[in-house]
Amino acid sequence: MENYIEHNNIPVWGEYDVIVVGGGVAGVSAALAAKRNGCKTLLVEKSVMLGGLATLGLIAIYLPLCDGRGRKVIGGIAEELLQLAIKYGYDNLPPEWEKGCNRVETRRRYMTIFSPAEFVIALDEVMQQEGVDLLFDTVFSKPVMENGICQGVILENKSGRIAYRGKMIVDTTGDADIMFRAGADCVESLNWLSYWAYSTSLAQMKKAVETANIVDGIRLQWFGGEADGRHAVKGAKKYYGTNAHEVTEFILKGRELLKSNLDNAKAKQRAYITLPGMAQFRTTRRINGFYVLRENDINTHFDDSIGTTGDWRKAGPVMEIPYRSLIAPGIANIITAGRTIAADGDAWEITRVIPPAAMTGEAAGTAAALAVQKRCSLADLPVVDLQHALEQAGVLIHF
Ligand SMILES: Cc1cc2nc3c(=O)[nH]c(=O)nc-3n(C[C@H](O)[C@H](O)[C@H](O)COP(=O)(O)OP(=O)(O)OC[C@H]3O[C@@H](n4cnc5c(N)ncnc54)[C@H](O)[C@@H]3O)c2cc1C
Repeated sequence: MENYIEHNNIPVWGEYDVIVVGGGVAGVSAALAAKRNGCKTLLVEKSVMLGGLATLGLIAIYLPLCDGRGRKVIGGIAEELLQLAIKYGYDNLPPEWEKGCNRVETRRRYMTIFSPAEFVIALDEVMQQEGVDLLFDTVFSKPVMENGICQGVILENKSGRIAYRGKMIVDTTGDADIMFRAGADCVESLNWLSYWAYSTSLAQMKKAVETANIVDGIRLQWFGGEADGRHAVKGAKKYYGTNAHEVTEFILKGRELLKSNLDNAKAKQRAYITLPGMAQFRTTRRINGFYVLRENDINTHFDDSIGTTGDWRKAGPVMEIPYRSLIAPGIANIITAGRTIAADGDAWEITRVIPPAAMTGEAAGTAAALAVQKRCSLADLPVVDLQHALEQAGVLIHF
């Protein structure tokens, strides 16, 4: 392959204690946590809104914060974000799960649908109120590495190619882009083609007017496969999300799936009102961390747990997430969170969704802030100090 060689002088625009790259729910949580722990914090996002898959990707179902048996298992910023998701928009949160309840007599789950647009507005508001610096429309390009330590990040935006120095970096790109480019060992997985989009119709509008509930006027439509391949299009191939050609094909095939379900004769009675603004990959690349969570870790105690999560698919199981699954050997000051933590098989199914993404984000941001304060590497951070800080912030560390 032919190569172009790049020689650039890249202006360093400033320095931050913590730079968070990727403004999905994991990144938002990480940035809030780092800021609340006293750090000058920058959040870099390649799109023009916060929330990632949960907003731009139209994945507007905030899965449970409980274990399905009436016990809350996720608190802290993940719970705060659920409340923010419904602050200005509709929801279907069971009323027994009012904010602050730790245990209620119900089998209904602490989860809700939400409106992506109103969630974006609430996220803008909280980030600005709390003083997190934001850079939208800015793509992370390269980490500047020296002996396993990331000195800063090179970014690309309308101003050109720029850089920021950072003491600690949180990789919440959803693709482990920074970890991978910094040399961390990573794992890639395939995805079934899926496509979620919003539609409306005259019949739904009529129903919404009758019930006086806007939710009845819109429909989140799902096409294609589940994570395990159920409902996948017959003969469909699976896609990697780390190859530009595959990403493009995945996006086009998703829209073709939607098109094949369009009934032209009904063009005046129905319309698609929003298509996803990012590729709906459940997984692309994740780290091979110091510890890889697996199915047999369900209901297991970890001394270095940074939080618990239930299983969104069924009542009962609880999973503690060890700090070691957020950090990688050989990488001193980059930590990941969200759908890129080290988890495999069923443990990945449990941890890849919105609540654990927010919960691990809070842990990553807090760990980064404590490591800045203690001037130590992430691997050398005393976990008891991290657990103490997280507990103070309402995180449930052990089940
Ligand atoms: C089809 C599908 C159905 C799902 N269903 C549900 C569900 O019902 N409920 C649920 O809770 N979860 C569900 N999930 C999972 C959930 O949506 C995600 O796992 C979760 O939102 C991930 O959050 P995150 O912050 O880790 O990553 P993301 O939401 O992917 O956020 C990553 C962010 O980083 C940005 N970014 C990426 N690369 C760069 C770069 N180089 N520079 C700058 N910014 C960058 C992106 O623009 C994005 O905003 C589903 C996922 C899919 C795909």
